[in-house]
Amino acid sequence: MLLTSPWRADFPGILALEAQGQTYLDSAATAQKPQAMLNALLGYYAGGAANVHRAQHLPGERATRAFEATREKLAHWLNAPGPAQIIFTRSATEAFNLLAYGLESQFQAGDELVISALEHHANLLPWQQLALRRGLKLVVLPLNESGLIDLTQAAQLIGPRTRLLAVSQLSNVLGCWQPLDRLLALAKAQNALTVVDGAQGVVHGRHDMQTLGCDFYVCSSHKLYGPDGVGILYGREDALQRLQHWQFGGEMLVHTDYQSAQFRPAPLGFEAGTPPIASVIALGASLDYLAGLDNAAVAAHEAALHTQLLDGLAAREGIRLLGEPHVALASFVVEDVHNADLAHLLTEQGIAVRAGHHCAMPLLQSLGLAGALRVSLGLYNDAGDLQRFFAALDQALELLR
Ligand code: PMP
Repeated sequence: MLLTSPWRADFPGILALEAQGQTYLDSAATAQKPQAMLNALLGYYAGGAANVHRAQHLPGERATRAFEATREKLAHWLNAPGPAQIIFTRSATEAFNLLAYGLESQFQAGDELVISALEHHANLLPWQQLALRRGLKLVVLPLNESGLIDLTQAAQLIGPRTRLLAVSQLSNVLGCWQPLDRLLALAKAQNALTVVDGAQGVVHGRHDMQTLGCDFYVCSSHKLYGPDGVGILYGREDALQRLQHWQFGGEMLVHTDYQSAQFRPAPLGFEAGTPPIASVIALGASLDYLAGLDNAAVAAHEAALHTQLLDGLAAREGIRLLGEPHVALASFVVEDVHNADLAHLLTEQGIAVRAGHHCAMPLLQSLGLAGALRVSLGLYNDAGDLQRFFAALDQALELLR
């Protein structure tokens, strides 16, 4: 029997794309949105927009309450001890930049920042640039052949000079869960700060911040079936206290005169200027929608799609998977076929997959590749999407070979 998604009809975007002849297989880049989220966006604007945290009037109070309700839902979603530990940024990328600037004063020349070879540019460039500004050393943990951060080498490279470890939970290219517990333990043994890039991980299953025990966890709304323009930074209470303020203006202060100012603590002290109000409120609706789903059914559906995707790729000659993906996300290259040519022919057939370096250029370079194709699936995808993809792939490969 053909695998269908009971949630597909909840996502008008996926239905619209289908009607346009497009098969959307790029949810790791950004996900389609549930109708409930669209209703919340429209509801906020159509019901009367107002700024948050600054107005006494009723619309302002209402907007502030809805905005803060999302912070509470996120704290619940991540099992953070409280909503004050959730900071809203404009993207996951901005959250990493906040950390790299906010923690800058914690480091001295010669200190080591440790990342891994598979990091997205968002979790590479802010640390790389911080290292250049401050004379720090950026240490890169290598991977093993399965696409996991090599723990033996990590145990050697994480040492007394390590002041920070920043690693991905789930690679956006290789699709594998990283051995976070072991890595975080190595960093904590050195009293180093720990940052986890949860941009991909947060979408698959639920993650408990108190069990994970990292100092900071970064993720982003638009991949979690929410609107774009919102990044999420969770911080442990003591870790947040180590952050210096980095963007200034608006309501992020307690008091200012012309010459000096005193700033608010987290979260509001790190949310300078008018935040993305509508998007934050609508993210709350996406979380409500997700919370209403049967988690086990979603996981089983994603696992079934994952198997079909991997089986289909394995059944075709000359396809090389990158890593050993654990979730419904697979990057691959095809022997003797340029990935840009293949991407072009898939695009022509209405298949929306990602091609290129996936914002992880050093990883692709280290694999000796200029680029790769990536198929990534959301809970709304079904076997029909995969059938269309494989039919298009076969046709493209026939032409190219
Ligand atoms: N980290 C990873 C692993 C990602 O996949 C992405 C998004 N491609 C980011 C960080 C950056 O997220 P954002 O687009 O919200 O800045």
